[in-house]
Amino acid sequence: MRAFAVTPREPGSGRLISLPAAEVRPEEVLVRLRLVGLDATDQEINAGAYGQAPPGEDVLVIGHESLGEVVRAGADVASLGEGDRVVATVRRPDGCLNCRAGEYDMCLEGNYTERGIKGRHGYLAEHYAEEERFLVKVPRELGDLPVLLEPASVAEKAVRIAYDVQGRLAWEPRTALVTGSGTLGLLTAALLRLRGLEVVVADRSDNDYKAGILAVLGAAHVNTRQVNLHDIPRRLGQQLDMIFEETGSSSVALHAMSVVGTNGVVMLLSVTGGDKRIEICADCLNQGLVLGNKAVVGSVSSHRRDFERGLQDMAEAERRWPGLLARLITARYGLGEVPQALAAMRENIKVVVQV
Ligand SMILES: [Zn+2]
Repeated sequence: MRAFAVTPREPGSGRLISLPAAEVRPEEVLVRLRLVGLDATDQEINAGAYGQAPPGEDVLVIGHESLGEVVRAGADVASLGEGDRVVATVRRPDGCLNCRAGEYDMCLEGNYTERGIKGRHGYLAEHYAEEERFLVKVPRELGDLPVLLEPASVAEKAVRIAYDVQGRLAWEPRTALVTGSGTLGLLTAALLRLRGLEVVVADRSDNDYKAGILAVLGAAHVNTRQVNLHDIPRRLGQQLDMIFEETGSSSVALHAMSVVGTNGVVMLLSVTGGDKRIEICADCLNQGLVLGNKAVVGSVSSHRRDFERGLQDMAEAERRWPGLLARLITARYGLGEVPQALAAMRENIKVVVQV
C-alpha cells in the first residue's frame, strides 16, 4: 500500500513509499483511511525537528488526525464491523500508573508511543490495523467532520481540566479568552460558546474568513497587533475567568498568566520547541498568581472520553450552527500531494488529505 513517510530528523524527507499490507490480529480491525488532517506536528516532523520511527525501522509514516472506515474486523472484535466509521486515538500506553489506568494522556514515565509521531506509524496511508480499544466509532451522519475529532478532543481535554481545577471554589465563569485562531483555537472557542461563555479570540491577524466563523459563533475577535492582551478585560468590562493559550508562543503564555482574572485558570496548550528567552518581572508575575489564587495548568493530548465528548459537542455544534464546522476544512489534497498540502497550511485553517 502507499503511505507518506519521513526519515526522522532529516529535513524535508517526506515522500510516498510502498509498505506491505497491514496484518490484522484477532483483536484488531483493518481500517481504510478516508481523510487525514495535517497540523503543525506533521510539519515539524517533516522539517526534521523530531519524530521517531517504529523499532527496527528507519521511516515513520506521519499523520495522526484520521477518519476511516472498517474494512474487516478480527475474530475477537466485539463492537466494530465492516462499514463502521472510526477515528483512532493517538497515544499508546507504557506500563506506568496512569497508562495502566487508561490515562495515556497523563503518562508518568514518558515511554508511551504515538501513532505518526513517536515509535508507531501514523495514518497517512491507505490502510491501518488497530485494536478496537483505541478506536472511536463515529456516526456516518457527521460526514467528514470527525476528521476534526482529534484536535477537538485536545480542546475538550483542556476545557474539562479547566472546570475540574476550578472545582476548588464556588465558580460561575462568564468569560474566556482563547489566544490563537488555528483549528484548535476555533474549536476551543466553539466548545466554550456551547457552554454558554462570552468568548474572545485573540490573534495577530484580520482574516475575514475567520472573522465570519467567529461572528456565527458569537465570539469576539481582537487583533493583538492593535490591542494589548492586558486591555481585553477593560474592553470587556469584566475579568477573564479562563484563558486557553494556543498560539505556539511562550511569551503569550506568560502574558496570559498576568491577564487572567482573580481565581481564574490559564490552560497552556502550546508546544514550544525552541529556546526563546524574554525578560519579565518575575516578582510581579508570581505575586499576581499568588494574590489572585490563579491556576496555571499545562495540557497535552487527550483521553478517550474527550473524543467521546467531542463527538457529542460536534453534533450539538451542527444543530446550533449548521455547516459551520465544515468551514474549518479549507483545503483538500490527494495522498500524492502531501508536500503541497503541508506547504499550504500557512494560508489555511485545516488542510486535509483525501486518501
Ligand atoms: Zn505511561
